[in-house]
Amino acid sequence: MRAGVAIIGGGSTGLFTAYYLRRLGYEGEVIILDRSYLGSGSTGRCAGGIRASFTSEVHVALMRESIKEWLRLRNEAGLPFRQSGYLWLLTTEELVKQHEALQRLHNRLGVPTRMLYGEEVLSVVPSMKLGDVIAALHDPTAGKISPLKTVWIMRRNLLKLGVKILEYVGVEGIVTKEGEAVTLKLSGGGEVDIEDSVIVAAGYWSKELLRPLGYEPPLKGDPHHLMITEKYAPFLEPLVIHKASGSYIVQVGSGGVILGTEYPVPENDLSIHLGFIGRAVRYMSRYFPQILDANLLRVWTGYYIKTPDHHPIIGRVPGYSNIYLATGYSGHGFMMAPIVGKELANYVMKGKPGLPETRKLVPERYERGELLEEKAIFG
Ligand SMILES: Cc1cc2nc3c(=O)[nH]c(=O)nc-3n(C[C@H](O)[C@H](O)[C@H](O)COP(=O)(O)OP(=O)(O)OC[C@H]3O[C@@H](n4cnc5c(N)ncnc54)[C@H](O)[C@@H]3O)c2cc1C
Repeated sequence: MRAGVAIIGGGSTGLFTAYYLRRLGYEGEVIILDRSYLGSGSTGRCAGGIRASFTSEVHVALMRESIKEWLRLRNEAGLPFRQSGYLWLLTTEELVKQHEALQRLHNRLGVPTRMLYGEEVLSVVPSMKLGDVIAALHDPTAGKISPLKTVWIMRRNLLKLGVKILEYVGVEGIVTKEGEAVTLKLSGGGEVDIEDSVIVAAGYWSKELLRPLGYEPPLKGDPHHLMITEKYAPFLEPLVIHKASGSYIVQVGSGGVILGTEYPVPENDLSIHLGFIGRAVRYMSRYFPQILDANLLRVWTGYYIKTPDHHPIIGRVPGYSNIYLATGYSGHGFMMAPIVGKELANYVMKGKPGLPETRKLVPERYERGELLEEKAIFG
C-alpha cells in the first residue's frame, strides 16, 4: 500500500487533518489508520465543549480561528455545532478581578466575552439558582457539539472525499531513512510506503511511536471522569463552569446532562472512582438543584494528555523532515481540531503553518525554554 499522507490515529486530530488536506487541495492518497475504532481514544470520551475563553494569548487566538472553522463547517460539512456559549461562575472577589482582566485580554484579541454581575447572570441561564455567585464571565462565541456525531459525520465526509480509513489496523513502527519516514509497519504484517508525510495523531500513544525514533514528547496521561444523566426537557443552553471547584455542567442535544469536576486520580489509572460523582453533584446541584432528581446513566474516564505548559505540541518531529506530531492538548484538543487540522495540512503542503501562534507550539520549545502558560483548565 502507498500513501501520500498517512495519518496515525482516527481521533478528532486525525479526522480533521485528513479533511483539511482535501479542502486545501491535496491530491495524493490520504490514509487514516487507527488500531481501534474511530473516536475510541480521548475524542469519544470528551464533553464536546468549544470555547475561546482561555488565559493564554496563543490559546485565545487559535480558538478564535477554530470557532470560525466550526461555524463554517456547519454548512460545509454538516456538523451541528451549537453556539450556545460558556458561563464561568465566580464566587470570590479575587476570581472576579481575574476574570475582569481576562475579559480585557479576550476583547483585545477579538473575542467578545463580557462580565455579568449579580442577577444579570440569570439573563443567560434563567433556570439556575444564583446562590453564592457574585458575577460570571460569559463567552458567547463558545458552544458544544456531540463528539460521537462529529466522528461519524466526518467519517462520511472523508469517505466522499476519497480518504481511505483503516480501522483496527495499528501502526507498530515508523521506518526512517536519512531523517525521513519511508514506511509504516502495520499490525498483521502489512506496510504503507510514504510518498509525502506522516502525521502522528495517536494521542497519548504518540510517545510509543516516537520513542524508537529518538524523540520522546513530554506527555502525561491524566485521567478525567465524566457522567451523563437520562434526558431532561431543555433547561440549559450554555456550558456552565463553577470556577472555584473546576466543576461543570452541560446539557447535550439528546437532553442528557453531563457533569464533570476536578477529581485527581493517579496517572494512567482509567478505572472509575465513585467519589467523582459525589463531588460533581455537590457543586453543580447548588446552582441546578433539578439534577438531584436525575437518573444517572453512565460514568466514564478518558485521558487529558498533558504537557508541561498545558499547550499542545504541534509541528515537525525533531530530526525528521516529513513526520509531524499533534497531541498534548491538556484537555482541549477536540475544540481545536479544525484549526489544528488546517495547520497540519499547511505544514504538509506549504512546509509551514498559517498562523504565528501555531509556530509557538513546536516540540523544540521545551528545550529552548520557551514555555507558555494556561490557567483555565478544569474538569
Ligand atoms: C473526560 C474528558 C472530557 C473532555 N472534554 C473536552 C471538551 O469539552 N472539549 C475539548 O476540546 N476537549 C475535551 N477533552 C479532550 C479531548 O478529548 C482530546 O484533547 C482530543 O479528543 C484529542 O484528540 P486526538 O485525536 O488528538 O486523540 P485521541 O482521540 O486520543 O485519538 C488517538 C487515536 O490514536 C489511535 N492510536 C493510538 N496508537 C495507535 C497506533 N499505534 N496505531 C494506530 N492508531 C493508534 C487510538 O486508537 C485513538 O483512536 C476531554 C477529554 C476527556 C478525557
